Amino acid sequence: MMKGNLLISSMIERAERFFPKKEVISRTSTGIQRFTYAEIGERTRKLASSLKEFGIEKGDKIATLAWNHHRHLELYFAIPSIGSVLHTINIRLSPEHIIYIINHAEDELIFVDEDVFPLIEAVHDKLRTVKAYIVMTDHELPSTNVPNVYSYEEWVQTGDKAFEFPKDIDETEEAGLCFTSATTGYPKGVIYTHRSTVLHSMGLAFTDTVGASESDTVMPVVPMFHVNAWGMPYVATWLGADQVMPGPRFTPKILAELIQDEKVTMTAGVPTIWLGLLKELEENSYRTDSLRAVVCGGSAAPLSMIKTFEQKYNVPFLHAYGMTETSPLATVSRLKSYQEDLPEEDRFNIRAKQGMLVPGLEMKVAGGQGEVRWDEEEMGELLLKGPWIADDYFKDDRGNETFIDGWLHTGDVCTVDEEGVIKIVDRTKDLIKSGGEWISSVDLENAIMSHEKVFEASVVAVPDAEWQERPVACVVLKDKAGNITKEELIEFLKPQFAKWWLPDDVIFMEEIPKTSVGKFLKRALRDKVKEHYES
Ligand code: ADP
Repeated sequence: MMKGNLLISSMIERAERFFPKKEVISRTSTGIQRFTYAEIGERTRKLASSLKEFGIEKGDKIATLAWNHHRHLELYFAIPSIGSVLHTINIRLSPEHIIYIINHAEDELIFVDEDVFPLIEAVHDKLRTVKAYIVMTDHELPSTNVPNVYSYEEWVQTGDKAFEFPKDIDETEEAGLCFTSATTGYPKGVIYTHRSTVLHSMGLAFTDTVGASESDTVMPVVPMFHVNAWGMPYVATWLGADQVMPGPRFTPKILAELIQDEKVTMTAGVPTIWLGLLKELEENSYRTDSLRAVVCGGSAAPLSMIKTFEQKYNVPFLHAYGMTETSPLATVSRLKSYQEDLPEEDRFNIRAKQGMLVPGLEMKVAGGQGEVRWDEEEMGELLLKGPWIADDYFKDDRGNETFIDGWLHTGDVCTVDEEGVIKIVDRTKDLIKSGGEWISSVDLENAIMSHEKVFEASVVAVPDAEWQERPVACVVLKDKAGNITKEELIEFLKPQFAKWWLPDDVIFMEEIPKTSVGKFLKRALRDKVKEHYES
């Protein structure tokens, strides 16, 4: 057999050649714009030639600070296709972290959205390696004192549409760089290669995993600055699926309208996004019958949310698990064929778990005494390996704690059922240790969120003199005026848990602090709870 050379450029070339008429629909500050893959391909080639013209070389790191739109998609292909490295930066990180990662990556250029440009104005004099800033806008360039500011559209216009993507790149060379949002210390970077990106896209396309297809209209809601929007833009382009890019500062209403108007079939995002969308669907009416998969990951999808999507709106839901270090797709929750006949409640319970390992990867769950039994009881840390799993952090010695003996130690604690389906019990650091036993904050959160009056809930440990730690629930109600007491909520949980699992307290809040990608931020929540008890 030939060895082949899996390059990212081959994905856009395929879209141009076989699907020139299929569309990318992009919401920008001026409204909805539509491009065919023929046009996206041409713009990508022109951009790639302008990058070369500027002097960008193989291995150079090129940063983006941008929302999900067609220009970001063009950069997803133009940058790696010439052998340089696409470094997507999370626009919601603190200025301190943004300065750190740009200097650490030694970025040569930064492509930045017009509405994110004020961030560059605030930090540019601390950036040591950046030679130019290229602003992505439908309008005039902002007037600014920042030196070396160029227009994205001009780079596209002046580029060469006949530019050929170089093929003297090896599939194992660097293609992308993404930093995890740090919960402690500075963010850690993960390098993706051409090979890992292409193989991960295959992983997304199996019918038994996410099952992306040419017939889909894919809307990545998960930001393109977060783990490559879970690889959705790559697989969608490769397969020639239509794509909808929701653009800057979207709201649940905007998402609902795009789903309805553009007949989105597959979309992907974190649970808090879908909780927001459900609220919008409850308040106003939209057509959602085009949807065949709402892909959800990043944190545990509450069972009640899965049920609402499927039973109330008839929208199929797909729970998946992964992390920056795993590109991210690692497991997907689908029923096995012989489980389709199980009672409805059992089927929902299986699908609310994180699911089965994607073909191509290997897993091990390490408990106290070697690998755990597949009995859904014994807990252990999930270890992963495979061709789209990182083997180290980018220029960072903290990798020693995570990459050990050829395995990625995920820091996630899980059980495995007899079918091989994993259930994430908690992050190691979020497990609540009460009297020598472990309590899963995730299980409690899911149960609380299934109460009809609850909008969001997060459970954290508080120190306890007798038991070491005890759970406390922080709850946001749908109706802010509140009409449920702490005692009623605990009563509601009683039939579902052992007595010692029940939260010692319920704190009602206006809002639960969230990370830059919309996950519950437990570190900040613990501080808030501490303040609550001290005041
Ligand atoms: P960050 O650290 O920025 O949140 P990641 O997006 O890489 O970065 O987060 C990965 C983590 O998110 C996983 O290690 C796991 O703890 C959690 N996670 C991801 N998907 C799920 C899921 N479906 N269920 C529960 N936890 C999840």
